[in-house]
Amino acid sequence: MNLNEQVFSYVKSASRGIHKHVLKILSQPEKFVEVNFPVKMDNEDINIFKGYRVQHSSVRGPCKGGIRYHPKVSLDEIKGLAAIMTFKTALLDIPFGGAKGGVVVDPKKMTKPELKRLSEGYVKAMVDFLGPEKDVPAPDVYTDSTTMAWMMDEYSRLVGKYTPAAFTGKPIDKGGSKGREEATGTGGAYVLLEAAKSFGFVPSETTVSVQGFGNVGSVIAEQAQSFGFKVVAISDSKGGIFCEKGLNFGKVKAHKKKSGSVVGLPGTVKISNSRLLTMPVDIIIPAALENQITEKNAKRIRAKVVAEMANMPTTPEASRILENRKIFIIPDLLMNAGGVLVSYFEWFQNKRDESWTLERVNKELEKKMVSTFRSVFNLSKERGISTRAAAYRIALERLSESLEYKL
Ligand code: NAD
Repeated sequence: MNLNEQVFSYVKSASRGIHKHVLKILSQPEKFVEVNFPVKMDNEDINIFKGYRVQHSSVRGPCKGGIRYHPKVSLDEIKGLAAIMTFKTALLDIPFGGAKGGVVVDPKKMTKPELKRLSEGYVKAMVDFLGPEKDVPAPDVYTDSTTMAWMMDEYSRLVGKYTPAAFTGKPIDKGGSKGREEATGTGGAYVLLEAAKSFGFVPSETTVSVQGFGNVGSVIAEQAQSFGFKVVAISDSKGGIFCEKGLNFGKVKAHKKKSGSVVGLPGTVKISNSRLLTMPVDIIIPAALENQITEKNAKRIRAKVVAEMANMPTTPEASRILENRKIFIIPDLLMNAGGVLVSYFEWFQNKRDESWTLERVNKELEKKMVSTFRSVFNLSKERGISTRAAAYRIALERLSESLEYKL
C-alpha cells in the first residue's frame, strides 16, 4: 500500500454514514502539478530537479501544506500528505483546505546558495498555483524558515507585490509568527500533557522516547521534559542515544551542532532507531518519517502510548495490531496539528498586518489543541471507535457540511 492508499484506508474506516458523493469527491486531489525545473549549481552546471504540488481540497478555504526536500519524494506520497492536510485543517476547524509539495533532492548534498536557487526555481515553476487565497506552503522535512523566506521573496518579486501571506513558517523579521517554528512540537506537548491527565499518568514518573531530532522531535522532546516527563531516549538519522535518568537537552543540542548527530554524547548509551521504538518506556513519539511502526515491529512495541508527531509513522496493519493490544494512539492528524494551526495564525496576522505576542500565540495554540484532543477522545469513547477513526470522523463530518452546498 502506498502512502495515499494508507490514508484512504483510514478514511474508509471512519466513513460509515458519510454520503458516498462526499467520499468520491475526497478520494481524488482537485489538482496536481509536476514540474522539472533548472537550477544552476556552484560549478556552473545546470541540474534539472523534479518538483510536485498537490492541492487535495479547497472546499473549506485556500489549500495549505508543507514542502519537503527529500530524495525519496514521490507523487503518491505527496498526494497522501496533501489529503492528510485536508482532514487535519477540518479537524481543527480552520478555514483552509489541504495541499503538499516536494522536490526530489538530497539537500545534504547541496550548498546553501544552491538550496536558495532550488527554492526560487520551485516557486518560479509553481507561481500560478500559489498565493494567499489559493495555496499557502509551509516548511516540512528538510525545509525551514529560511527556505520560506527565500520562497516568499521570490513569489513577491514574481507577482510584483510584497506578499508575506503567501507562505507561512517564515522568520519573524520576514512576517513570520512568534512561536511558529516550535508550534508543531509545542502543540504536541500540550496534547501529551492533556492525554497524561486523562490516563492518570504522573509526568515525573512517565518515561518517553522520541524518534527524530529535527524541528518537530527536538521541540517536543524538550517541551515534554519541561512539563516534567522523563525523556530517556532520542535519535536522528544516524542512530539514537539512551540515558536512564533523563537527557540533558542543552548538552544534546550542543553535541548535535558540533558533530552533526546526537550519537556519541558522553554519558549516554548508543541505541539503534529500531531499538528506540521497542524500548520499555511509557510513551514513544515517532517524529521523523513515515512507516516507522509496521506489522514487523508493532508486536514488539512495549509503550502504553504512541504519540504520532510524524505524518503517517504507523501503517494501517500496525495500527490495528496496536489497537488490539490496547496501546493508545494519539493520531498524527491531531498530535502534529499545532504547526498548521500557528501557520493559520501567521497567515491571519499577515493579512491584518498584526503581530501577536508569543504568549497570545501559545495560549490560542494550547486552547485549540486541548479542546481538539478532548473532542477526539470523547468521540472515540462514546462510539467505541479508535482515536484515529474519531479524528477522521470529525473531519469528515465538517467536510460533508461544506461539500453539501456543492453537490
Ligand atoms: P526535520 O527535517 O526537521 O527532521 C527530521 C528528523 O528525522 C531529523 O532529525 C533526521 O535526522 C531524522 N531522521 C531522518 N531519517 C530518519 C530515520 N530513518 N530514523 C530516525 N530519524 C530519522 O523534519 P520535521 O519538520 O521535524 O518533520 C518530522 C515529521 O513531522 C515529518 O513526518 C513531517 O511531515 C512531520 N510534520 C512536520 C511539521 C512541521 O511543522 N515541521 C508539521 C507537521 C508534521
